[in-house]
Amino acid sequence: MSVVGFDFGNESCVVAVARQRGIDVVLNDESKRETPAIVCFGDKQRFIGTAGAASAMMNPKTTISQIKRLIGRLYSDPELQNDLKSMPFMVTEGPDGYPLIHVKYLGETKTFTPTQVLGMLFSNLKGIAEKNLNAAVVDCCIGIPTYFTDLQRRAVIDAATIAGLHPLRLIHETTATALAYGIYKTDLPESDPINVAFVDVGHSSLQVCIAAFKKAQLKVLAHSFDRSLGGRDFDDALFQHFAAKFKDEYKIDVYQNARACLRLRAACEKLKKVLSANPEAPLNIECLMEEKDVRGFIKRDEFEQICIPILERVKKPLEKALAEAGLTVDQIHAVELVGSASRIPAVLKILTDFFGKDPRRTMNASECVAKGCALQCAILSPTFKVKEFQVNESFPFSISLSWKGVAADGQNEAAEGQQTITVIPKGSTIPCLKAVTILRSGTFAVDVQYADVSELQAPAKISSYTIGPIQSTNGDRAKLKVRVRLNLHGIVAIESATLLEEEEVEVPVVKETTKMDTDDTANETHVGEADVNMQDAKGAAEATAAENGTPEATAADDKPVQMDTDAKAEAKKKIKKTNVPVTELVHGGLSQVDLQKAVEKEFELALQDRVMEETKDRKNAVEAYVYDMRNKLNDKYQEFVTPSEKDEFIARLQEVEDWLYEDGEDEIKSVYQGDPIEERYKDHMERGNVIQQLTYCINSYRDAAVSNDSKF
Ligand code: ATP
Ligand code: MG
Repeated sequence: MSVVGFDFGNESCVVAVARQRGIDVVLNDESKRETPAIVCFGDKQRFIGTAGAASAMMNPKTTISQIKRLIGRLYSDPELQNDLKSMPFMVTEGPDGYPLIHVKYLGETKTFTPTQVLGMLFSNLKGIAEKNLNAAVVDCCIGIPTYFTDLQRRAVIDAATIAGLHPLRLIHETTATALAYGIYKTDLPESDPINVAFVDVGHSSLQVCIAAFKKAQLKVLAHSFDRSLGGRDFDDALFQHFAAKFKDEYKIDVYQNARACLRLRAACEKLKKVLSANPEAPLNIECLMEEKDVRGFIKRDEFEQICIPILERVKKPLEKALAEAGLTVDQIHAVELVGSASRIPAVLKILTDFFGKDPRRTMNASECVAKGCALQCAILSPTFKVKEFQVNESFPFSISLSWKGVAADGQNEAAEGQQTITVIPKGSTIPCLKAVTILRSGTFAVDVQYADVSELQAPAKISSYTIGPIQSTNGDRAKLKVRVRLNLHGIVAIESATLLEEEEVEVPVVKETTKMDTDDTANETHVGEADVNMQDAKGAAEATAAENGTPEATAADDKPVQMDTDAKAEAKKKIKKTNVPVTELVHGGLSQVDLQKAVEKEFELALQDRVMEETKDRKNAVEAYVYDMRNKLNDKYQEFVTPSEKDEFIARLQEVEDWLYEDGEDEIKSVYQGDPIEERYKDHMERGNVIQQLTYCINSYRDAAVSNDSKF
């Protein structure tokens, strides 16, 4: 079993693995600790990660970046529409309302869903972990932003499945950071926890988490975020500033040229980083557009001036987190700063002023999320022994159920209306199982939805179910207990529905008062009883209130049955429980069939990449052979050949070399298949017929090239 943590950022990804001696961040093929979150479709193969970033400038329109912004979102989502403006690749609305990415690949236009592209990225990260561990990687933990919706969480799971991964948990990035912070601390108090604020300023978003630490445990008190405030917004401010400037000064409109846009954006990002350490910085790009070299310059003061609208937004999530945690700044023991965009001095200043103390950088700003994920994976993995440390996570949204209910008095059909009840209140622990009791009959539809979409800006509906048929003698007012599970990933689902009916039973004589608990679920919290005649708001309020009180047995059906000691036998009321079928109609993730198709597609694409990689290796081998042989003909083999044979052979080598760079350039692996060159060399050495053998060898490559017309 593998123990691996993945932090897939909007800009870069980090892979951490657990080894017996601890958690390590591992290096990718290019020996880097961070892997760009980029999938580039080249002419004949994909380039992912660092290779993708290297190919981006050559293929601006087929280089997919910022996948984290695209997954699990409707095409019409205003935030997505805004993000698309700075993405140079083509995205359209698919028939299901979700975005489709178009790329020219292998000579045709192909479309991929963002989930598929994330799957490609995950495959690459999986490969990095596997190379380092020298073993297959399946089990893992993946970091996700707190603000990810149900749909986005499902998209991450689907993408992981496409890559052949099995996430044991999707963990909130800031919670992973808090875990990586707390687990190594040896000075945590036994009681009176200390509160630490974690602020992660990444590429596209800002997240805040306030957690209380005690010995061997952390409890998340509050999460808050701004989904669209990160390093890239500062890049964009610089980009717009210089695009306008260059339009003025050089009469070029970079917006008209994808490659120029990409280059200017990259230069602005560099500029921003330079400004973190220097009071001023130049920006020079050669041949940006229309063969014009551009020159620019900016002072940090001016940079901060143009970024005021962005900087003004930093405080709000800080205030929100503090308010939700019910704390004042003096009660915050320490502020830990992570995420690479937290290096911007103006951001740091706002944080320092707000908390009234210097934020610390105890954690490795770019690696703590991945490490926290690997730690969480180790905790969940039975194969690893990890120091006891409990993570009490808090779910940042309220979830409600909504259904068409019967009339207020159960008689008047005209009074039917939409009923809503909060089933998972904001701040519930992850995972949890909650129940509500509603009155219904027949077969009916229920939607699981966000109770408050104002901070999510997502559609309220998460999923739809039908419950029923309910076969009850109580008509419209059958009592139905609906259980809703929030799983470890923060994905919600209706788990079951039970019809509760009172029935009279003969109870045998018992000498002493006996308590019979009729409930069958141990770890369940009862949210309360929602009657259909409740007002919507009232229903939600009462349900929440019920949970805040005694968690169990607020409903009559769960009350213990008291036995009468005197009677021999007596008719008593008992609750009969019958399972009612629950069918999931719609959820945002991929269906099993589509998921399987996506897995197969990824396999095909990966095969193409492998063929191309192997072809490259073989080409290199032939090339090396040509060079080597040329040298040897002048040296080691000199005495075996006559001058005319040597000339003839050198001419042949030249032919092969020309072929390699011309026709051979477009050939695929099978052409380069043949007996290993070394074998031929040994052969000819044995037989002593140098020229004949070598000529044969070279011809066989050429002939193969001519006769081979198979295409992958
Ligand atoms: P996210 O967490 O939003 O999904 P991510 O994890 O990829 O994204 P990080 O790697 O934490 O994000 O941060 C990347 C951002 O930090 C980029 O915008 C990058 O330009 C910025 N950045 C990196 N170094 C510096 C620096 N020295 N000064 C300012 N910004 C920097
Ligand atoms: Mg990040």
